[in-house]
Amino acid sequence: MQTHHIHISGLVQGVGFRPFVYRLAIEMNINGWVCNSNDGVHIEFNATDTTAKDFYDRILYQAPRNAIIAKHTITKTCKKEFDSFTIHSSNNKNTPDLLITPDIAICDSCKKEILDIHNRRYMYPFTTCLNCGPRYSIINSLPYDRENTTMAQLTMCNHCLKEYNNIKNERHFSQTNTCPECSIPMYLFEAKGKSVSRNNIEILQLLDKSLKEGKIVAVKGIGGYLLLCDATNAKAIQTLRLRKHRPAKPFALLYKDMDMVCNDVILSPVEQIALQEKSAPIVLCRVKVEIF
Ligand SMILES: [Zn+2]
Ligand SMILES: [Zn+2]
Repeated sequence: MQTHHIHISGLVQGVGFRPFVYRLAIEMNINGWVCNSNDGVHIEFNATDTTAKDFYDRILYQAPRNAIIAKHTITKTCKKEFDSFTIHSSNNKNTPDLLITPDIAICDSCKKEILDIHNRRYMYPFTTCLNCGPRYSIINSLPYDRENTTMAQLTMCNHCLKEYNNIKNERHFSQTNTCPECSIPMYLFEAKGKSVSRNNIEILQLLDKSLKEGKIVAVKGIGGYLLLCDATNAKAIQTLRLRKHRPAKPFALLYKDMDMVCNDVILSPVEQIALQEKSAPIVLCRVKVEIF
């Protein structure tokens, strides 16, 4: 057995790469470590040449779905002893060479959780997992670890910590992990600045009510302020246009699903693909009928 070193760079942080390598190493009975650095992911381990090649190939070909591998190398290094496989704390000694992971729209599995009344994340608006959630907007510095994000000051509750430390859990090593118990705080203020509520559920209900009443709501999100109003309410749109001094320029619309989108706009195949991208970009489309 020899000690091997793998270095992988590209879009490999914030996509579940370390827990993936960890699971694979445990499955293949390999000892060593994996860590994030500001030039990518590094893995050091002991194995025969054949097992090392197998491990390397599986890392490259079975990588997490949001990862993009730009460069990869495997080299032999001086012999070391390991008695287990671990996720090492990150280091940032190298020259930065990373693709920053974009914010990723909520995945289907998280959507299911927030709509399931028996799930502890029922209606929890900040539900994320290894495959989804904010990345780019919350990173303060590299490598991608909770302490280098705007979530650093939030402490995970026992439930979340258990998920974080459980190799079999889909939130194993998920840096954005929170739940209603250790929630990201929410605040609601009136237009003049008076505090209205600090209760997540109540805030969501009040927002829903306000939108239905044709009001405009400013949401301070991860990437700045969003002004929201009911896109089917002509009066609300007119007020927004007036206040924003935007008489004609289009606003972005939020749709629940593709069926709903197709009722209002004509989509080319390219636009359809773009709308369903994991980063959920804003896509310019042609409207079927003139709407406000
Ligand atoms: Zn998710
Ligand atoms: Zn929690």
